[in-house]
Amino acid sequence: MSEFRYFDSRERALVIGLGRSGVASCRVLRERGASVIATDENASALPAGTIADLQAIGVSFVPPEHLDKVFGELSVCVLSPGVPLNGTLVRRVQGAGIPVFSEIEVAYRICRAPIVAITGTKGKTTTTALVGALFRAAGKTTHVGGNIGNALIAETSVAQPADWVIAEVSSFQLETIRSFKPRISAILNISPDHLDRYYSMEEYAEAKFRIFANQDSHDVFVGNFDDPYLQRLHSGDDAKRLHARSEYFSPSGNHHAAVYLHGDSIVHAPPTGDPRTLELLRIAEIPLIGTHNVANVMAAFAIGLAAGLDLEAMRDAVRRFAPLPHRLAPVAEIDGVRYVDDSKATNPSSVVAALTSFAQPVVLIAGGRSKRTDFNAMRAAIAAHARAVVLIGEAADEIARVVGAIPVHRAASMEEAVQTARGIAQQGDVVLLSPGCTSFDMFISAEARGDAFVAAVSARVPSHGL
Ligand code: ADP
Repeated sequence: MSEFRYFDSRERALVIGLGRSGVASCRVLRERGASVIATDENASALPAGTIADLQAIGVSFVPPEHLDKVFGELSVCVLSPGVPLNGTLVRRVQGAGIPVFSEIEVAYRICRAPIVAITGTKGKTTTTALVGALFRAAGKTTHVGGNIGNALIAETSVAQPADWVIAEVSSFQLETIRSFKPRISAILNISPDHLDRYYSMEEYAEAKFRIFANQDSHDVFVGNFDDPYLQRLHSGDDAKRLHARSEYFSPSGNHHAAVYLHGDSIVHAPPTGDPRTLELLRIAEIPLIGTHNVANVMAAFAIGLAAGLDLEAMRDAVRRFAPLPHRLAPVAEIDGVRYVDDSKATNPSSVVAALTSFAQPVVLIAGGRSKRTDFNAMRAAIAAHARAVVLIGEAADEIARVVGAIPVHRAASMEEAVQTARGIAQQGDVVLLSPGCTSFDMFISAEARGDAFVAAVSARVPSHGL
């Protein structure tokens, strides 16, 4: 049993890391009456006013080098998601005998509402937003947070018992949990990603499996039946590790799943054993591009069904759902060419998902900083769907090796890439930014990269006549 903590006026807390989540932790702990000291190893890089704003609510800032003086006063430490667990600062805190909790763990412990926690290599944000829309449409007071943008702790601290919290959680955050126990957990898929951080796929999958580690028979686990790592939880050796009731979805149409693709529809096989399936939605009604989004919608339905949401409300919410920015988001149609921004595609499997979404020839803009994933996974999809590939960033040479016979062009900037793509694209084509890499060699974030693409498309630069 993990120790009970109050995170209220009985605590003298140290918050490490003053990004969005750390600032939210400071605020919530103060609201709950705790005294709070904040620190950050990179304070000079914080947005102007961060420390002053915290001081205004009674948080004192102590630089890391002076923390030893206050260690004796502290009862607990709260870590922001970006702060490494094995860093020297955390070790010093632990060495002083102060218990360390991650923000997600504290968010869980103070939460009075049931939590839906969603993880996976890809589709987390889209599915989390979809699930939030489903719960809202079904009349639930819903708080959406986590990696999706707003700190989870800010959402769980205000949630009432009858509300629901929908949380997007990363494998990094899951590494730090102790008693985090979602009412409904979901793993969307597990594909090679972040192998710069994990030694192996097994280790990466293990981090994701922590999402159900504390669940019991009153809880539900939702998994993708088509994913080999997740199928092992259904019937393989790993099945014993799952104590929650499990509900699977199958984008390939496997009838062993509770929610699966059947012809042109997503259907539900009720657990009653009734052989008649229930149509949940026709694929044509999904307002998002790509078969991977059909999978995301299936996951959202499986979660909504597990929570007992009204079916018609769920259907309506999906029909009205608008694509999120930078995730296969249509940008413009210029001279019969569609421009699509998929800047959030930061690994090869997302590029494959994007390319296979289009029946038309695609001029693909890809590249950036590699996460040490294998670009060979993109080879077949490029051969089948790309008219040409325009490469940017550090990984350009590596990607060029898997492009095969398709013409390859290089560009030094996003403007040049769009200009080159515009020159190549023929009427009816799609110009797709789907990089398969992180953005950090050229941009501060995937969002900034997508914004640069949108700006370059909107600038209507004249094609340079390739
Ligand atoms: P995440 O939050 O997990 O990064 P997002 O919902 O932000 O996922 O989507 C990021 C990108 O991943 C999208 O642009 C799309 O290319 C791809 N993607 C989304 N859902 C899936 C899925 N279920 N399977 C594979 N790729 C996906």
